[in-house]
Amino acid sequence: MPELPEVETVCKGLSAYLTGKRIVQLELNRNDLRFPFPDDLKSVEDRAILDIHRRAKYILIRLEDDLTMLVHLGMSGRFRFHEHPVAHEKHDHVIIHLNDGSVAIYTDPRRFGVIDLIHEEDNHKLLNHLGPEPLSTLWNGDVLLKSLRGRKVSIKSALMNQKIVVGVGNIYASEVLFLAKVSPNRKACNISLPQANRIHTATVQILQDAIAAGGSTLRDGQFTDIEGELGYFPHQFAVYDREGLECVNPNCTELVKKSVHLGRSTYHCTACQR
Ligand SMILES: [Zn+2]
Repeated sequence: MPELPEVETVCKGLSAYLTGKRIVQLELNRNDLRFPFPDDLKSVEDRAILDIHRRAKYILIRLEDDLTMLVHLGMSGRFRFHEHPVAHEKHDHVIIHLNDGSVAIYTDPRRFGVIDLIHEEDNHKLLNHLGPEPLSTLWNGDVLLKSLRGRKVSIKSALMNQKIVVGVGNIYASEVLFLAKVSPNRKACNISLPQANRIHTATVQILQDAIAAGGSTLRDGQFTDIEGELGYFPHQFAVYDREGLECVNPNCTELVKKSVHLGRSTYHCTACQR
């Protein structure tokens, strides 16, 4: 499932190719994904694209006259860009035709994605209850510690809670907690300020490194950027998907342990993480 670095990668690609162009046609090959499309989705036609940015795991395509197209990639959504229209492939659900003849195609085999319209900037039910952006100056160890108060869930579950901090999913939560030397099983309410500070620093570092690597394409091969390139961050995974392999800490002889909770896999080193 795309997390913050993958969505950021797609956003940057879309922004580079689409900003400043005009949508001449929105071709719909179905009328829903996870939810039905809004009846007025085609009102994006004949509007210029002013900018494209990310909020949490949502792509926001801001158009002329206070209209924003919201896209969530769900489990398997992806965009690809072509200079000229191409033959449709299976699962190509939405095709954005631009005024210079180029196209951006939204493909989503599992159809957990979302496409909706926002009529007033940033006022949308999916955006209203989101927590802070991990890479913004509004988030730090103190803010994190406060948001963990009284929470009896594990720190790993808390990090994946979009009200506490947005964009961190299952993969990056394991990586962040390894770098921060905090056990994923520790209760959120028992995290100390030094641990919260380490988790903050580790989150920023892991997300920035992953963005620089173009995100993570896992063995399912589902994630690519808009030019079809893979994300290379998995080559840097310290614990994720490394069950039974030696811990990357040179002073440690433990093997990476995998545990499964509510269907999600967690990877950690029992010696390095407390
Ligand atoms: Zn270790």
